[in-house]
Amino acid sequence: MIEVRGLVKRFGGGAPVLNGIDLAIERGERIVVIGPSGTGKSTLLRCINFLDRADAGTLRIGDLAVDVARATRAQILAVRRRTAFVFQNYALFANRTARGNITEALVTVKGLSKAAADARAEAILGDIGLLDRAEAYPASLSGGQQQRVGIGRALALDAELILFDEPTSALDPEWVGEVLDLMRRIAEAHQTMLIVTHEMQFAREIADRVIFMEGGRIVEQGPPAELFDNPRDPRTQAFLRRVR
Ligand code: ATP
Ligand code: MG
Repeated sequence: MIEVRGLVKRFGGGAPVLNGIDLAIERGERIVVIGPSGTGKSTLLRCINFLDRADAGTLRIGDLAVDVARATRAQILAVRRRTAFVFQNYALFANRTARGNITEALVTVKGLSKAAADARAEAILGDIGLLDRAEAYPASLSGGQQQRVGIGRALALDAELILFDEPTSALDPEWVGEVLDLMRRIAEAHQTMLIVTHEMQFAREIADRVIFMEGGRIVEQGPPAELFDNPRDPRTQAFLRRVR
């Protein structure tokens, strides 16, 4: 079980971007977060992974409990070992091969030896269908292949939670399908996932729960059939009308 309580985040002296987020995620649960631009979706994911530091709130991942504002370096590393992040723009090391990008994460985050990391990377490259491109650098991979490496790197960490921030938004349409297919397979393996996406059909298929956020708050949440077909809050209704 993963639990976020009272998460608040401001940038500079401005209004809060996250305005008291409470969220409990069951093991194996797949949650999709939707909402208008600038509403705090990325900030929520980034605060869970300590890519941004929230101003207040607590984070609990299994037996690890952290007061985010006072988190120590050791606690942050512990959270990062348990939560992996998939970025919209892949965020691969340009000077490392597909294999190298995966082994790097295993050595730096998981502390594996080079040999153990290589063996694990080999298995992951097979899982993501890129064994034949293992020695290719990101620049010579398609967008879809690069994002599969980004997802492979997250998978390799065996994280309790994988955070996906619009993983297909930067892709040419022709590559979206293969990335969503890989994510479907990960979902079928009961990986706990928190996904920000605009792919509503995909959300409908794989989400156990859809969360609608606006203005730094969770406005409404429920199973996809309920939230998409029968939204109760006027803000959810207005948003869904706009994106359809
Ligand atoms: P989108 O759908 O466009 O990705 P989002 O819901 O992910 O939007 P966030 O990126 O979380 O929104 O941003 C929420 C608000 O916080 C926005 O007003 C944004 O300008 C602001 N913000 C985000 N990151 C920073 C930062 N590093 N410094 C200052 N303001 C920021
Ligand atoms: Mg965002």
